[in-house]
Amino acid sequence: MAEQQRWEAGVNTHENIIFSCFGGLSNTGITSALASLEAVRELGLNKAAVGCLTALPVKIPSVMGKTKAARKVITVDGCPQECARKVAEQAGIKVSKGIVLARGISMKKKPLHEDIGGDLKGVMEYVSQDDVKKAKDLIVKAIMEE
Ligand code: SF4
Repeated sequence: MAEQQRWEAGVNTHENIIFSCFGGLSNTGITSALASLEAVRELGLNKAAVGCLTALPVKIPSVMGKTKAARKVITVDGCPQECARKVAEQAGIKVSKGIVLARGISMKKKPLHEDIGGDLKGVMEYVSQDDVKKAKDLIVKAIMEE
């Protein structure tokens, strides 16, 4: 197996980084994660990748370096708590654009615990593919606009 290349300044990396809140307790957070991956699928990994949000508060050097080397950093949050944007900014990252799905595509947050003991469905039944597509389009637009 080839020796793993350690990332450092000057080594190739993804042109843009997306940080998704990935709040798995609600439809909005799950949609932010799926839409971020769909944006990467559409743009290709040269153009964009989903960054390691949890590496930012603990300042993992390679993640900090790749993020700071990115042309744009886009945060994607499900709801107005804006966890991803706040975590990134508290780590000293300059966010080029913060997307909030509750505003950007008018999503209504549905906390999944509300259905426990009642009409609890499968996880993907809380996700609208239409919302994922609309959110993906917003992310792609934010990356592609000058
Ligand atoms: S921004 Fe909202 S949906 Fe996303 S992790 Fe935070 S509280 Fe959850």
